[in-house]
Amino acid sequence: MILFNLRCVSGHDFEVWFKNGAAYETRAAGAVSCPVCGSVEVTKAPMAPRIARGGRDAEPAGALPAEVAGRLRDLCRKVAETCDFVGDRFAEEARRIHYGERKPRSIYGEASQAEVAELRDEGVEFQRLPWLPPTTS
Ligand SMILES: [Zn+2]
Repeated sequence: MILFNLRCVSGHDFEVWFKNGAAYETRAAGAVSCPVCGSVEVTKAPMAPRIARGGRDAEPAGALPAEVAGRLRDLCRKVAETCDFVGDRFAEEARRIHYGERKPRSIYGEASQAEVAELRDEGVEFQRLPWLPPTTS
C-alpha cells in the first residue's frame, strides 16, 4: 500500500491509499474526489509518497511514470502552441476575458493559490495543469 498525498484544484491536500503506484495512475477518472470540496480534479501533491510497507513495485518517490509524463508533456506543448503566455498576469487576464473587457482567447500562465481561489469564486473557467516543459528531443 502506498499513501499518496493528493491535491485538488482548489488546493486542498488529502491522503488516499493505493495498492501500488500503478493503481494510482490507472484509477478511473473521478474515482477519487476531494473530501473537502468534492472536486474530482486531483493531482499528486508535490511531495514523495510515503510507502507503508517495503513495496517492491513502488515507483521512485516523486517520479511520474514515463507514459504519464509523456502525455502530460504533449498536453503542455499543445497549450504552449495554441495559447498566449501571460506569465504571472494570468488571473488579471482571465478576469478581463471573463468580464468581456478583452476579446476571448486562450491564455496560459501562472497564478497563486489565492488568485486561483478568487477566480473560482468569481466563476472564471480555467484548468490547472502540472507544467512539464516540452523536451527538445
Ligand atoms: Zn478540494
